[in-house]
Amino acid sequence: MIVVPGVGELPVVSIDSGIPGPVAVLTANLHGDECTGVAVVHRLRHLLPELIRCGVVHLYPSLNPGGLREGCRGVPGDDHDPNRLFPGDANGSMAERLVAAIWQDLLARKPELLIDLHTDAVRAVPYAILDRVCRGLGRRGLDARCQELAAASGLTVLREYPRPRYLRYNLDRSLPGALVNGPGIPAVTLEVGPRRAVDPVAVETALRAALGVLSLAGVVSAPAPAHPSRVSGGPWRRESGPRSSQAGVLEVLVEPGRLFPAGELLARVRSLDGRTIQELSAAEPGFVVAIPDRCWVPASSAIATLAVRDV
Ligand SMILES: [Zn+2]
Repeated sequence: MIVVPGVGELPVVSIDSGIPGPVAVLTANLHGDECTGVAVVHRLRHLLPELIRCGVVHLYPSLNPGGLREGCRGVPGDDHDPNRLFPGDANGSMAERLVAAIWQDLLARKPELLIDLHTDAVRAVPYAILDRVCRGLGRRGLDARCQELAAASGLTVLREYPRPRYLRYNLDRSLPGALVNGPGIPAVTLEVGPRRAVDPVAVETALRAALGVLSLAGVVSAPAPAHPSRVSGGPWRRESGPRSSQAGVLEVLVEPGRLFPAGELLARVRSLDGRTIQELSAAEPGFVVAIPDRCWVPASSAIATLAVRDV
């Protein structure tokens, strides 16, 4: 249990095989409205005592219980995104104090790998995302290890935005980003399922993916088969889709996970009475990763999250 004065209490469930081996950590629900991972941790709590072969797995069902209760992304009463604040500040805002307490607890366990569970959108392919290793020791080996772990999920693997934007967006201060760029601990984020609700299919997908990653580490033996949605090839990276210049009703024309060529019409923006006011096409080949959970798009908002080749 982590106690953060004025913020809340975070349970930690440890499954110890009693046999020497890797220390693995699985975290969920840092974004309070992303709850697939809570259900995955609950499943693992009951499955792992049977499945574990060696080592220890520390399960954090919710890194943001206040956000879970309120159904909001951040820490209630704090505007910061907690997943851009690591390693936190024990004397800072509520979110910074929460993050500092999580960071301290995690590092004290000396993990050899971390899986952070998140969710994206109702219409999205499930995917594993890899941070950019920008600094720290053993960078080359660390990047390769993170790639192996992500591939073992059986999901589509994406790299984060190119390095300048990765740093500008403070993604090196996400939980996995801070681990790979600080103490050099391998980490992977799994983005599975919609926000705000627990989808049993997504839970099963994320559970198999997490077990696949733990299998590569040798903690269990339950390798994940390739998920039917997996887009191979690449390497792929996350990219924002084209931005609408007009506000209106969004109609995305390409299903998530289907490869498209440069120039393909991706989306239309319509006026409320149904006229086409803008058409948006692909600047380069790729596929749609996720479509926003909204019908009305404001001007200058991206019409989708895309994957493009990481060259
Ligand atoms: Zn998230």
